[in-house]
Amino acid sequence: MAKLVTQNHPALHSIADEVPLDEIQSPAIKKILKDMRIALDSYNINGFNGVAIAAPQIGVALRIFLVHNTSTDKREKDIIPDMVAINPRLIKLSKKKHLVGEGCLSVGEDYGAVERSTHATLRAYDADGKEYERGASGLLAQIFQHEVDHLDGILFVDKAERVWHKDDAEAKKFREAGVEDDE
Ligand code: ZN
Repeated sequence: MAKLVTQNHPALHSIADEVPLDEIQSPAIKKILKDMRIALDSYNINGFNGVAIAAPQIGVALRIFLVHNTSTDKREKDIIPDMVAINPRLIKLSKKKHLVGEGCLSVGEDYGAVERSTHATLRAYDADGKEYERGASGLLAQIFQHEVDHLDGILFVDKAERVWHKDDAEAKKFREAGVEDDE
């Protein structure tokens, strides 16, 4: 199942299960990661691309997300690196928050203003089953929070302070004024 499920799919609204550690390198998990990459890379609606995807978005209720930046620009690659996060936990979230623009592969036409911590530290396992920690600020910190929310059945529209249609003039104004992304 390499396709995105629709917004009402139960996997998008429930708490996903942890991946047993001895199964991280199994063919089943490799297949899920591959399907997630295909679904992410094939998403393009009106020029909107995604940079991250969580397993529930393809209907798999497991705690996995990946970040994949198709940009060839090195600076952008530094801001948003390729990552696999299995059983991720946000072990630190800054008290300092900001209001940022957000979209989602699973919420096609909407764009919202969401309050996110400016800094976040993630602890997770990579595709080889190795545990790692990664601190992030700005856009990558926002991606961490958005994706971990997916694993807890939360969509950005559930917590957004404002939601607009993507083409709404106000959404455009907000997007141009602030941090921009579309994961
Ligand atoms: Zn999303």
